[in-house]
Amino acid sequence: MLRSALTESLPVALEAQVCVVGGGPAGIVTALELARLGVAVVLIEAGGKDGPGAGETSYAGSSAGRPYPVQGSRLRWLGGTSNHWGGWVRPLDPTDFLDKPALELPAWPIRHADLQPWYELADSWCEVATQGYEFGQLGLEGTGRVFDLAAGKDFQNGFFRVSPPTRFGQRYRSEIAESSALDCWTDLTVVEMIQSADRVRQLRAVSTDGAETRIRADHFVLAMGGLEVPRLLLAQSEVPGNQSGLVGACFMDHFGIRPGRLLAAGGLMYRMFDWDGQTIIPMLRPAAQLLAGEALPNACIMLAATRPEPSLPPVYWSNQAISGLEEGEAMTYDVVFINEPVPDPRSRITLVDERDSFGLPRLQLHWQLPADSFQPALKLVDRFRHFVGQEAIGRFQWLQRAGLPEDQTPGIGYHHMGTTRMSATPDAGVTDPNCRIWDRENLYVASSSLFPTAGYANPTLTICALASRLARHLADKFEQQS
Ligand SMILES: Cc1cc2nc3c(=O)[nH]c(=O)nc-3n(C[C@H](O)[C@H](O)[C@H](O)COP(=O)(O)OP(=O)(O)OC[C@H]3O[C@@H](n4cnc5c(N)ncnc54)[C@H](O)[C@@H]3O)c2cc1C
Repeated sequence: MLRSALTESLPVALEAQVCVVGGGPAGIVTALELARLGVAVVLIEAGGKDGPGAGETSYAGSSAGRPYPVQGSRLRWLGGTSNHWGGWVRPLDPTDFLDKPALELPAWPIRHADLQPWYELADSWCEVATQGYEFGQLGLEGTGRVFDLAAGKDFQNGFFRVSPPTRFGQRYRSEIAESSALDCWTDLTVVEMIQSADRVRQLRAVSTDGAETRIRADHFVLAMGGLEVPRLLLAQSEVPGNQSGLVGACFMDHFGIRPGRLLAAGGLMYRMFDWDGQTIIPMLRPAAQLLAGEALPNACIMLAATRPEPSLPPVYWSNQAISGLEEGEAMTYDVVFINEPVPDPRSRITLVDERDSFGLPRLQLHWQLPADSFQPALKLVDRFRHFVGQEAIGRFQWLQRAGLPEDQTPGIGYHHMGTTRMSATPDAGVTDPNCRIWDRENLYVASSSLFPTAGYANPTLTICALASRLARHLADKFEQQS
């Protein structure tokens, strides 16, 4: 069922086995997976069915530290931010799950292999081919569209798949509306958690026209995105999961740099195109042995052609001709690095005194990304510069060797990660490996706020994988009880 609290009479109480809060990709996948498994679910979405509605300004907040678009980086309506996402999908690399010397806090308490079956399901939620992410299967080597890089080299080819992009609220609307196990209410904002020492008893939710209801369930899943999940937790008089002060901490987003230009063979296609019936985006990435050997962050590298083909190499390249390239076969490319951020407890969400129209305190994001934090990424750029020279596949020209001043916003992914990090022990995070908030028996999170580390890959595929895995975990609990 799909109902709006503004057009239908809102009962004083709603009840289900599981209550999911937030109807973006995380909430829709969790709720529909549960409903498909026969679990009774109520899904509460603050926005409208087709647009944000009057509660949109609830997302307004402020930023300190490096400037960040707190409101413009998310959407508040059924389908959430997938209503304007770009659709790039890729799992995290296996090494992204592992502890690294540069990390102050532990990485994931689970491994890539634990998520692998759920990644396959996530592919289908995002409507991309479920054929894996091994570059070799594409048959692109030898076509001139990518560098031919032998196994074992310090940089390798990789690729993103591209979702249509799936607008989750539109694509899955009829299943939401027709499911007998799912009761979805839009235009209803959860504002309070009524708790006992170790459990959530009820949620209080209000509509923009002042109607109010209580929601009772055996289990509650917070799926409101990586900024709103910590905001709601921090707004409670007893903050769940905050035994180590990490609720709202370790905010991360992928950040981009454009360090220079590459002179290389014309016709390289490290950008989006259709290939063999699939939309893909080839990219370059550092090999695991390079990252481990030098304690460097992960990244992916895109190339954007800047000169029409055929073109003469510009004068400043002329004494650095690439072996094997004739005049006129070369092209210059803008080089873009999309970088892995590091979890830093100083990068955090806090609440301010001002409240929104629902009475919830507004958030402030302090994005801790000082200019010197770009240094590891710039060191990786230098490795890439050496690599293309040594391999005689390109010549790199530095254009920007310093970190961006702290009053400027770099290219960002609009990916809100880390603010309720998953951990092996309560002292290092907010949720356990099953996404349950450490000190609450029945409170779970489905969001990129779970990510203890972030790799370079866009997060939504991993969000969907974690949400599917959580739904199975909760359904198993009910099966064990019966
Ligand atoms: C411009 C842009 C491009 C992007 N491109 C990509 C991309 O190419 N690839 C990729 O992987 N990711 C991309 N992203 C990120 C992607 O959109 C998010 O990762 C994804 O939407 C997160 O899903 P979510 O369900 O966790 O949160 P959201 O999509 O933010 O959904 C949260 C939902 O919760 C609701 N809600 C909030 N508070 C409450 C409350 N108190 N009560 C009830 N409901 C509430 C909201 O209304 C919203 O519908 C992009 C983001 C932006 C802004």
